[in-house]
Amino acid sequence: MEAKKISYFENVNHPVHREFIDSQEHCVLCGTVLKLNHTADQEEKTIKEEAYCPQCTLRTRAKIYLLN
Ligand SMILES: [Zn+2]
Repeated sequence: MEAKKISYFENVNHPVHREFIDSQEHCVLCGTVLKLNHTADQEEKTIKEEAYCPQCTLRTRAKIYLLN
């Protein structure tokens, strides 16, 4: 399911979207609360956080957190 490669922001060419991406937990297009996905990578000791809109299936951000 998650075989697609991760890209950071898929709509950064819109300045307005970028502002929203930085500050909002809602979809920039439809206002739906974003779903968060956390995927732990045991080998790299990271947690990947992805946010996406269940309505438009727009992926708005992906962050990597380091566990120590
Ligand atoms: Zn949406």
